[in-house]
Amino acid sequence: MTTTIGILGGGQLGRMLTLEAKRMGYRVVVLEPLTNSPTGQIADEQIVSAYDDLRSIGELGARSDLVTYEFENIPLISIEALEADRRLVRPSGAVLRITQERLLEKQFVRECGIDTVDYAALRTWDELPAAIEQIGFPAILKTTMGGYDGKGQWLVHTDAQAMDALAAAKGRPLIYEQFAPFDKELSIICARNARGDIVTYPVAENQHDRGVLATTIVPARIPAAIAERVRTSAETIAAGLDIVGAFAIEYFLAGERLLVNEIAPRVHNSGHYSLDATTISQYEAHVRAICDLPLVPPRMLVPAVVMVNILGGGNGDELGGVNDLLRDPDLALHMYGKAHAALRRKMGHFTVLGADADDALRKAERGRRQLHWIDNRAVSRA
Ligand code: ADP
Ligand code: MG
Repeated sequence: MTTTIGILGGGQLGRMLTLEAKRMGYRVVVLEPLTNSPTGQIADEQIVSAYDDLRSIGELGARSDLVTYEFENIPLISIEALEADRRLVRPSGAVLRITQERLLEKQFVRECGIDTVDYAALRTWDELPAAIEQIGFPAILKTTMGGYDGKGQWLVHTDAQAMDALAAAKGRPLIYEQFAPFDKELSIICARNARGDIVTYPVAENQHDRGVLATTIVPARIPAAIAERVRTSAETIAAGLDIVGAFAIEYFLAGERLLVNEIAPRVHNSGHYSLDATTISQYEAHVRAICDLPLVPPRMLVPAVVMVNILGGGNGDELGGVNDLLRDPDLALHMYGKAHAALRRKMGHFTVLGADADDALRKAERGRRQLHWIDNRAVSRA
């Protein structure tokens, strides 16, 4: 009988995961509140429901042989309800509990003997003076839960700005983080199975724009010794969490200091390139890990690859320049089936294969310049 994978979350990560799972012969049921979601367009079935509706969650469990998630901001109670029902959830609720809460996550990383930025808990106004005293400025205040793409974050340089951030958080608990003066941001994608076998992808170099990933360069332009430290620290964290599935760890590299920023217990934006540039994509690796299939080391098919995110402009929903973009034979375009290109919304991405990082970056920048949003609403009115 065909195995059915249940996915919580219906975004682009779920979409690419579903495409790969279906290629491998699985059925997919997705649970997601938005109709016609990027994942729902591809999956065999979509349950349209809030992530905390336990009746629907139960339905997802009943229709699936195992459940996974493409988004860590799933209410923990939903995962715990599935586990209480004896449904197999990978990664487990124990992994999600730590990785969806920034304070628990950083504490866990430090317990593994791995460095993070200095931080303090900022749950109430009373804790602000001590946090400022301990960490100082500049700092980033972040909601401990629920953030993504830089949402729920405030960069602060003064006491007054810190107070404004705390007010803007409206009572949500915060983490007060030292601003890391990093030279580069890095990430690594790994996949680990229930036996503890782990495979790792090459370290990626990430450039963010206002908290949103803009560009990923693989392999990262860093010394081999740093890449090795990234790999071993990721293996340590994975074993400590006992995670099953694909996951990503984000890092700051500041001089010789390597700091973990966060752990994503799921497939990751900085691993999109693997669909076009490696023997086994991160999505396939996730399916293999959670379905107890063999994990084999992924290999790069080219010396270098660059991934560019296509973000909404907030000024039109039709992507222009695609004909020019697709003239590059080393380029692959991926669009997520989202109707409305809201400002900075992730609408798609493209990857460019290169003889080396400079070659791929040059072609990627040309591609980025070719794309623009067309206000098709104005055209249809005319
Ligand atoms: P998200 O869950 O939104 O990805 P992150 O904590 O990864 O949240 O923050 C998004 C981006 O903001 C990071 O990739 C980095 O560019 C910047 N950032 C976050 N925290 C810090 C920090 N402590 N120091 C410097 N930059 C930071
Ligand atoms: Mg991040």
